[in-house]
Amino acid sequence: MIPYKHDPWTNFSVEENRRAYEAALKKVEAELGGDFDLIVDGKRIKTDDKITSYNPSNKEQVIGTVSKAKREHAEEAMQAAWTAFEEWRKWSPKARAEILFRASAIVKRRRHEFSALMTLEAGKSWVEADGDTSEAIDFMEFYGRQMIQLAQGKPCNSSEFQHNEYNYQPVGVGFAVPPWNFPFAIMCGITVSALVTGNAVLLKPSSNTPIIAAKFVEVLEEAGLPKGVLNFIPGSGSEIGDYIVDHPKLSFVSFTGSREVGCRIYERAAKVQEGQQWLKRVVAEMGGKDTIIVDRDADLELAAQSIVKSAFGYSGQKCSACSRAIVHQDVYEQVLERTIELTKELPVGNPTDVHTFVGPVIDAGQFRSISEYIEIGKQEGSLRLGGEADDSTGYFIQPTIIADLDPNSRIMQEEIFGPVLGFSKAKDFEELLEIANNTDYALTGAIISNNREHLERARRDFQVGNLYLNRGCTGSIVGEQPFGGFKMSGTDAKAGGPDYLRNFLHAKTVSEAF
Ligand code: NAP
Repeated sequence: MIPYKHDPWTNFSVEENRRAYEAALKKVEAELGGDFDLIVDGKRIKTDDKITSYNPSNKEQVIGTVSKAKREHAEEAMQAAWTAFEEWRKWSPKARAEILFRASAIVKRRRHEFSALMTLEAGKSWVEADGDTSEAIDFMEFYGRQMIQLAQGKPCNSSEFQHNEYNYQPVGVGFAVPPWNFPFAIMCGITVSALVTGNAVLLKPSSNTPIIAAKFVEVLEEAGLPKGVLNFIPGSGSEIGDYIVDHPKLSFVSFTGSREVGCRIYERAAKVQEGQQWLKRVVAEMGGKDTIIVDRDADLELAAQSIVKSAFGYSGQKCSACSRAIVHQDVYEQVLERTIELTKELPVGNPTDVHTFVGPVIDAGQFRSISEYIEIGKQEGSLRLGGEADDSTGYFIQPTIIADLDPNSRIMQEEIFGPVLGFSKAKDFEELLEIANNTDYALTGAIISNNREHLERARRDFQVGNLYLNRGCTGSIVGEQPFGGFKMSGTDAKAGGPDYLRNFLHAKTVSEAF
C-alpha cells in the first residue's frame, strides 16, 4: 500500500490548473438544478417535500433540490442499516478500506468538479474549495490505512496457559450529522470513519449543502459500498434529527456543528429510552472563539499576516477562524494598523473569480445574525474597518475590524461565524494568556512570540485543542494536526488523528485457557 501522504493542493498560479478549474465551473453550472432522491436500503425514494440549495453569491440561483425525509423514512433507514450491518461488520477491515481508497481515486480524478460545486453551493474561493476536497481525500486515505492497522488489535500480555487478545469490533448503527462549512471534508470524514470501522450509517447532510453530499454518496456507491450500509436522508433537524437521536436502536452520533445543536444532541442521546440496550456514544465537535495572541517580543508582520488570513479566509466561517486578536499594549497600535492595511487589500466578491479571497456568508440567517453583531460591535468598541453588508444579489459582508473591545464584551465572547474580527489590549503576557482562556470555548489558538519562555508557557497553559506557535490558527492537515477542541468546543475527538476511529469501535478482550 502507498504510505499516507497529504493530498497536495492545486497551484492556481499554473495556467493549466486555472483553465481546468474554469472548465469545471462551467460543467457544474451547466448541470445545476438536479433533483436528488433519498437513498434507503439502496432504493431511491422521491418525496414531494424538497430541500432547495441556493448559491450564496447569487441567491436566485438554484444549485439543486433533494427529497426531504420524514420520520417514516428515518425509521426505514434505521431498520435497513441494522440488516446491512449484520453482513458489513463481517467484511474484512482491508476490504472496507479498499472501498475508501477507490472512492478517493474517483474523487481525485474529478477533484475540480467537486471543488467547483462548493464554490457555487457554499461560496468557497477556489483555494478554500480545493483545500476542502483535498481534506476529504485525506480522510479517506488516512482512515482506510488506520483501519487496516487497527485490524491487528493491540498487544497484551499472555501467560503459558492463557492466551489473551485485544481487538476492535464495530459498534452498530450511527447517525452522521455534518455542518455546511466544510461541506465535503467533514461530511466525508464523519461518514467514512464510521463506515470503515464496520458500522452502518444514516447520513443527514446540512440543509445548506445537500448537493455535494448527494454527489459523494454516489461516489461511495460507485466504489462498491453495499446497499443499506449508508442511507442518505436529508431532512430537518427538528423533524428527523431528534427522532433518530432518540431512537433506542441508535448506537452513536457523530456530529459536527454548533454548540446549541451539539448540546441538544448530547443531552437527548444520554437518555436511555425504553427498549434501549446500550449507552449511546456521542462525538460532538462544536463551535469556537479562537484567539491569536501577540506578544511584545514578536514578529509583528507575521502577526498581522497570520491574523488576517485566519480571520477572513472563507469569510471567517471556520470553527478555527481567528475572531479575536489580543495584543500586548506596547505593540497594539502597530499590529492593529497593519492588520487593517492588509485586510483592505483582500479581494471581496463572487468566488467564481480566481482572485476572490472573501466570498459571501452562507445564507440569509447568517447574514442577519452577523449584521446584528456588527451593530453590537459598534456599541461595544470602535469600528475600524468594514461594517457594510449587501444582500441585494448574494450575502456579502465586508471584512470588519472592531478595536478596543473589553475582553468580556459579546464580540469577544460569542461565536459570530463571519468576517468580524475583534481586537483587545493586554498589559503583559500574563494578561494575554488570561484573556485567551476567558471564553467557554477551547478549539484553536495561536501565539506569535519570539520569547521562548512564553512559547513554553503557552504550550502548557493556553487552553485549546489545537495550539499553533508563530503561525495562524486555521488550516489543520489530516494526520499532521489532529483536530478538535474541549470545553464547549466539544468532545475533542481529534478528527484525522491516531485515536479517532476508536470512537466508533468497541474494544474486546478474548482470553483462552489451555
Ligand atoms: P448547526 O446549525 O449546528 O448544524 C449542524 C448539523 O446539525 C446540520 O446538519 C443540521 O441540519 C443538524 N441539526 C440541526 N438540528 C438538529 C437536531 N435537532 N438533531 C440532529 N441534527 C440537527 O451548525 P452549522 O451552522 O451547520 O455549522 C456551523 C457550526 O459548526 C459552527 O458553530 C462551527 O464552529 C461548528 N463547526 C465545528 C467544527 C469542529 O470541528 N469543532 C468544524 C466545523 C464547524 P440542518 O442543516 O438541516 O439544520
